[in-house]
Amino acid sequence: MKITRRGFIQTAGAVTAVGLTGVPLIASAATKKVVVVGGGTGGGTLAKYLRMADPSIEVTLIEAHKTHHTCYMSNEVIGGGRDIKTIEFGYDGLAGHGVKVVHDKVTGIDAAKKSVTTEGGKSFSYDRCVVAPGISIDWEAIEGYDQAAAEKIPHAWKAGPQTALLRSQLEAMKDGGLCVIVAPPNPYRCPPGPYERASQIAMYFKAHKPKSKVLILDPKPNFSKQGLFTSAWRRFYGYESADAMIEWRGSAQGSSDNAVVAVDVASKTVTTDFGDEIKADVLNVIPPHRAGRIAQIAGLTNDAGWCPVDLKTFESTLHKGIHVIGDAAIATTMPKSGYAANSQAKVCAAAIADLLNGREPGVPAYVNTCYSIAAENHAFSVAGIYRLAEDGSSIIGVPGSGGLTPVDASDEQFAREVIYAHSWFENITHDVFG
Ligand SMILES: Cc1cc2nc3c(=O)[nH]c(=O)nc-3n(C[C@H](O)[C@H](O)[C@H](O)COP(=O)(O)OP(=O)(O)OC[C@H]3O[C@@H](n4cnc5c(N)ncnc54)[C@H](O)[C@@H]3O)c2cc1C
Repeated sequence: MKITRRGFIQTAGAVTAVGLTGVPLIASAATKKVVVVGGGTGGGTLAKYLRMADPSIEVTLIEAHKTHHTCYMSNEVIGGGRDIKTIEFGYDGLAGHGVKVVHDKVTGIDAAKKSVTTEGGKSFSYDRCVVAPGISIDWEAIEGYDQAAAEKIPHAWKAGPQTALLRSQLEAMKDGGLCVIVAPPNPYRCPPGPYERASQIAMYFKAHKPKSKVLILDPKPNFSKQGLFTSAWRRFYGYESADAMIEWRGSAQGSSDNAVVAVDVASKTVTTDFGDEIKADVLNVIPPHRAGRIAQIAGLTNDAGWCPVDLKTFESTLHKGIHVIGDAAIATTMPKSGYAANSQAKVCAAAIADLLNGREPGVPAYVNTCYSIAAENHAFSVAGIYRLAEDGSSIIGVPGSGGLTPVDASDEQFAREVIYAHSWFENITHDVFG
């Protein structure tokens, strides 16, 4: 093993301290402590990969819930094609990698004292902290839509009980009903997600409630994988015909006419910026979001509500010693996706192992793939390989890499993408929680 000068000085320092207190030498090796806040895709991956990179690091993962429901494949639950149990994961796998799993809610992070405090009254000291809390919903953004409203009108943008609520409302809806999806503005978690959701709901309607319809109200002029979605909608759901089962109302460039500004919970009616009032039978409101609340509390967010980071190590540019990964982080061109969070977690784990061992972190590469299942036997994907720009200011796509399923792909190719999507889900959930 090559010992760098810095690593040698650190080790020598530890030995001296141990010698003075009489604690066995071996104990000093375990004093590298990392606390991970949030055990979803980013936090789970990071905790596991950090233990694999350097088993001498003590990794404590603090997660508010006993089990985690993945958002990926939650649209299939909403469409009725999948049981919610199949997207639920526990933490025994991570414990098996030596991660200390604590179920508690983190309420504070003190960057100066290097300590994390929890609702349960515990306090954890760290050498480095990783914050991976996902998103928080902006409850101020839409008049009438607050946390209490979400108990009746789900956003279902954090999977779990919200997913089950939306599914049960769709099941209870009469044939001939209208399901309205209020899409969020950029940037948001899972850019193709609202459109995949509309597809999954239309797939359910087509089979069980054929007189019903999905209307998407969008504050944006265009959306992710638009050509592939609209082509699938035309083919399977009569998009842009008189009998269309999916209608998309976007906002013109520079305008927000189809943005929803108010919700009346009792009547399930939304009001758009243009002043239109639309009454739904099932209403799914996905408000704008921000970095998870704890990132805001810890002073890790900018004015827009997201966390600026050094893109090589994901260390916060606002607080040294704290790293932010996943949806909460500003990863420039990388989308806010599970696969991106997984990739960022691996980059960050390697960087932390290097930093704690006195090594200079290497130059990272990153990856993302995202599948959307738009109909039975019909899915498509986008893939991207990224690298750090020379000046470190941005994550950029590697020229000639990645790509998008062609709109004129064969039926067999679209069908194969469904198999790939399900296989990706098995693989990533094993990678994160297994
Ligand atoms: C409908 C939908 C479909 C999607 N489909 C895909 C897809 O097909 N492919 C894909 O790649 N991505 C998909 N995504 C996006 C993906 O789910 C997210 O990008 C990913 O979960 C982000 O990971 P994260 O670790 O940042 O956050 P999360 O996975 O949300 O994890 C955050 C965790 O932190 C915990 N937490 C938060 N605050 C605290 C606190 N104070 N104390 C303790 N714990 C806390 C939460 O309980 C949670 O478990 C989809 C998203 C949605 C909504």
